[in-house]
Amino acid sequence: PLFQQAVFLTTVANLRDLPQDSVREVAFAGRSNAGKSSAINTLAGRVRLAYVSKTPGRTQHLNYFTLAEGKYFVDLPGYGYAKAPEAIRSQWEGLIGPYLSKRDQLAGLVVIMDIRRPMTDLDLKLIDWFRPTGRPIHILLSKADKLSRQEQTKALRSVKAEVETWGDAELYSVQLFSSLKKTGVEDAEAVLAGWLDI
Ligand code: GDP
Repeated sequence: PLFQQAVFLTTVANLRDLPQDSVREVAFAGRSNAGKSSAINTLAGRVRLAYVSKTPGRTQHLNYFTLAEGKYFVDLPGYGYAKAPEAIRSQWEGLIGPYLSKRDQLAGLVVIMDIRRPMTDLDLKLIDWFRPTGRPIHILLSKADKLSRQEQTKALRSVKAEVETWGDAELYSVQLFSSLKKTGVEDAEAVLAGWLDI
């Protein structure tokens, strides 16, 4: 992997606790169970790195990892699983929404979607928070190994068609990804390296 030596930096529960330096960062978002932790671990070349984000007290917060290159990966809370809509709304309005819309250091957003259930309402809501920034979004259709080649291609085409309706084609990209089979790792690395200027 390109990003080999990521280490856990800090958990952020309040906007005022965000790192104050001007280091560029990439954030990872997705529904609970979409494969976000696995994708971060795969991209960072570490077996269990992002599982610290799943330890008690950290699941609802932003978890920062420092890459060997000095840039940050930011693991956002998983959404959409066994949680009341009001709880999601207040979490997004208090922390995630402002983070996504105002964080200058945030170079781009990676959204992890299970290829079998892409583009849910909550995915689109999160993306809507971020699009006004004019920063890029890269969608990983995760667990691609769960589908046949033909089904993968079909899913990819359909998500790409939806993304095209947003306009600004240069900002948005979609790819197949599998942490299990390590499919699409190099393509994802290339996108992130570009965003982070590595
Ligand atoms: P998160 O909740 O989004 O962080 O998801 P996890 O990374 O914890 O993955 C959720 C479940 O999906 C776990 O059981 C993983 O083993 C499984 N999983 C994650 N990525 C893949 C993948 O690429 N292929 C397959 N087949 N399973 C995966």
